[in-house]
Amino acid sequence: MSAMLAEPAEKLAVADGPHTEQTRAQKRIVIIGGGFAGIAAARALKRADAEVVLIDRRNHHIFQPLLYQAATAVLAPSEIAAPIRQLAVKQRNLTVVLAEVTGVDLNSRTVDASYPGLGTRKIPFDFLVVATGMLPSYFGHDEFARHAPGLKSLNGNRVLPSFAETLSKKVTQRLEKLGIKVMTGVKVEKVDEQGVIAGGKRIPSATVLWTAGVAASAIVKMLGAKTDRAGRVTVGPCLDVPDVPGVFVVGDTASVMQDGRPVPGVAQAAIQQGRYVGRLICERLKGRDPRRPFRYFDKGNMAVVGKNFAILEAGRFHMSGFLTWLIWAFIHVASLPQLQNRLQVETQWLWSYFTGQRGSRLISEAPRTAAN
Ligand SMILES: Cc1cc2nc3c(=O)[nH]c(=O)nc-3n(C[C@H](O)[C@H](O)[C@H](O)COP(=O)(O)OP(=O)(O)OC[C@H]3O[C@@H](n4cnc5c(N)ncnc54)[C@H](O)[C@@H]3O)c2cc1C
Repeated sequence: MSAMLAEPAEKLAVADGPHTEQTRAQKRIVIIGGGFAGIAAARALKRADAEVVLIDRRNHHIFQPLLYQAATAVLAPSEIAAPIRQLAVKQRNLTVVLAEVTGVDLNSRTVDASYPGLGTRKIPFDFLVVATGMLPSYFGHDEFARHAPGLKSLNGNRVLPSFAETLSKKVTQRLEKLGIKVMTGVKVEKVDEQGVIAGGKRIPSATVLWTAGVAASAIVKMLGAKTDRAGRVTVGPCLDVPDVPGVFVVGDTASVMQDGRPVPGVAQAAIQQGRYVGRLICERLKGRDPRRPFRYFDKGNMAVVGKNFAILEAGRFHMSGFLTWLIWAFIHVASLPQLQNRLQVETQWLWSYFTGQRGSRLISEAPRTAAN
């Protein structure tokens, strides 16, 4: 057993069994998910007089906005990921647990955490923050997943439908200039080893990527709360699960309406929601209940199309082209979780830009042949 697994299992042995004030003097906040929202919530609880337990089934936080660069071998996976424990190293009241949450019992106020190779333990909580993100949705065709691994994003009938139509058109033109045929408003009927059947026509391809839709993670069903069409929890104004005291849902897993429009499933929204709930819990631990509703502050949206071209929309301000691409690159490097990631990505991008070479062209598994 690795040292990394041993510590949380030992530490949380005290958490077994129902919570009583005799066994646990401090309040415990359990956060499920070490993505943007979960980490922001944990950080906001840094000074809380409470035990914070962050559980994730992965030992690392993935910077998803650059995931496609790992998928296309521009960057190595390690350059866009950081161990969650390292992020939490300066936070004394935080325990990071490598385990998958397989159950939530709102009556006994416990979560079931399944440790790799160690079985399942119950972890009691006083406050629960669910930040489990989204999974790709194959719209009922889960068999597509075998041939078309998912990169999650929003769907609709034009490219980048969440942006203004003028920017969306510019992106389509740019894609066409790069030699990409854009087909919108066409339904995918089949994905198999020969490619795709869309709109009744076969498109032969050895590589198919699925970015068409997302669905909330399974943990949401365990909360028994009202959900939207994508399965996200319809939360109250304080991101709480209605009628379940002390239980919150943040990030992509939460369906939040603001001024009649849904808050987008993006990193900024997840960070702001996590931070908000962390601070709210801090207030409640001090016996205060501010009930100030969550408000999303939209700093603007960006998207990149290949080399030298990006778009930016901030309110009525629109921008596109090379300068936007430089701003996009600067913001993304600055937002990476660790200095180490920032330096690696910067170096790799400069190298790729001037040499045209990709940084991580490794196929880590031997290709299957008739002989094996
Ligand atoms: C390919 C891609 C590109 C994107 N590009 C952008 C972009 O350019 N800009 C932008 O703002 N946003 C972008 N997004 C969206 C952004 O990444 C998400 O909005 C953000 O990650 C949501 O944060 P989160 O904390 O809610 O969920 P996540 O970051 O998905 O984190 C969820 C965490 O929960 C853990 N988890 C889930 N279930 C369990 C369980 N049962 N037990 C234990 N742990 C569990 C997961 O392991 C994961 O670490 C992109 C997303 C993808 C997939």
